[in-house]
Amino acid sequence: MTTSSTSFVSRNPADPSDVLGEFPAAGAPAVAAAVERARAAQPGWAASGAAARSSALTAVAAAVEAAAGELAALAVREVGKPIAEARAEVARTAAIWRYYAQAPYEPTGTVHEAAAGSGLLLTRRRPHGVAGLITPWNFPLAIPSWKAAPALAMGNTVVLKPAPEATACARRLAEILTDALPDGVFTLAPGGADEGGALVATADVVSFTGSTIVGDAVVRAATARGVPVQAEMGGLNAAIVLPDADIEQAAAHIAAAIAGYAGQKCTATSRVIAVGAARDPLREALAEALRTLAVGDPADPATVCGPLISEQARDRFERARDGLYAVASGPSFAGPGWYTAPTLVEKVPEGHRLLSEEVFGPIAVLSSARDTAEAVRMANSVAQGLVTSVHTADLDVALHALDRLDTGMIRVNAPSTGVDFHLPFGGAKASGHGPREQGRAALEFYTSSRTYTLAP
Ligand code: NAD
Repeated sequence: MTTSSTSFVSRNPADPSDVLGEFPAAGAPAVAAAVERARAAQPGWAASGAAARSSALTAVAAAVEAAAGELAALAVREVGKPIAEARAEVARTAAIWRYYAQAPYEPTGTVHEAAAGSGLLLTRRRPHGVAGLITPWNFPLAIPSWKAAPALAMGNTVVLKPAPEATACARRLAEILTDALPDGVFTLAPGGADEGGALVATADVVSFTGSTIVGDAVVRAATARGVPVQAEMGGLNAAIVLPDADIEQAAAHIAAAIAGYAGQKCTATSRVIAVGAARDPLREALAEALRTLAVGDPADPATVCGPLISEQARDRFERARDGLYAVASGPSFAGPGWYTAPTLVEKVPEGHRLLSEEVFGPIAVLSSARDTAEAVRMANSVAQGLVTSVHTADLDVALHALDRLDTGMIRVNAPSTGVDFHLPFGGAKASGHGPREQGRAALEFYTSSRTYTLAP
């Protein structure tokens, strides 16, 4: 992708000569105007009633399902997502809209008896106004949806600023949304940092997903204005493997979490911590799993690891891997795109960037711990705190780890990747700020509670 201040070119990462389009950036003034239009439309949308909001969200789900093949193909072509994962993302996107289509019928408050006398005390959740949503390129349909659907369900209107790399996907999703919703209720504001900044400066509630450095700036700017803000940011996720684990299964899960979608998921595994005797068998099984992993064209249904998103991303990966001892390197693929081989490294010197920075590519560091306590300390030793996976047959060990790991999510005997959209999702420490996304947590985030006293 190349960007200028007024337009950007979106390219297929599997074949950079394939241009999806040159898209105009909205410009900061147009973003502010879109927020004003959305603000004018918001009271009408909130007052339209639960049935109207529910059926609009159901219509979005149906339209996503009807366009499923086209949307999946677009995600393959624009962001290099392997087709099997792209189809799963589209199915999840439709499910998200169906799930939140029920939310307008949910109770929005509580009723309490007065402490004295016969009055009534009520609480009621009300929408904030205009939700400003800023999203990354790696889940170009699901992430905008899991923010927009609860925001709309609760009576907010929405302005979405998608990642420039995923503009074609965002435009197609926006077509579906604007067809299903009244005028002004949803607006797409394509662009980059300028447009994102303008949205943070004007929206009534801000939800951001992306890198930690940008997320921190977004949180500061929104907090200074006093508007509610949540930010889901990068990870540096560990997988802990105990000697009693099913090592073959653990290796399969971890290899998929390192290399699936070329490691371009916030929940990807980038550190593998083998406890005691788990080390040698795990090392061997992981090396084998990575060596035989399907690297290639994302349009091929067998592909697990496609290209990186851009030339810069591949350069960043190569720099991070440079000079390290590789235990295993997956197959290389000689396509025209930004391909790289999934890699497991060890003996990484203390202070190396791989132990503190998210590379966002298919690479992980293997290290050893004497016991579970040391493994937990190592897992917790980074600034990020998104997700940890723990692989063990011992429920006691798993429960012990659940209590001591400091990540927002912990997955036992499962890959670190994988999201259940009806559960709260989010990171701790530098990986997340503010209330969780998804599930019922999102309905609360997009509303504020009022307390009413009705004296007789
Ligand atoms: P990014 O931070 O570069 O961009 C994210 C969004 O912010 C884009 O829409 C971008 O245009 C916008 N933006 C950039 N500068 C801005 C500014 N100054 N003000 C406002 N908006 C601005 O991230 P990316 O490269 O698109 O996505 C990859 C990152 O996202 C990785 O770090 C990954 O871990 C993270 N991510 C996190 C989660 C999660 O839920 N924790 C999920 C997916 C991706």
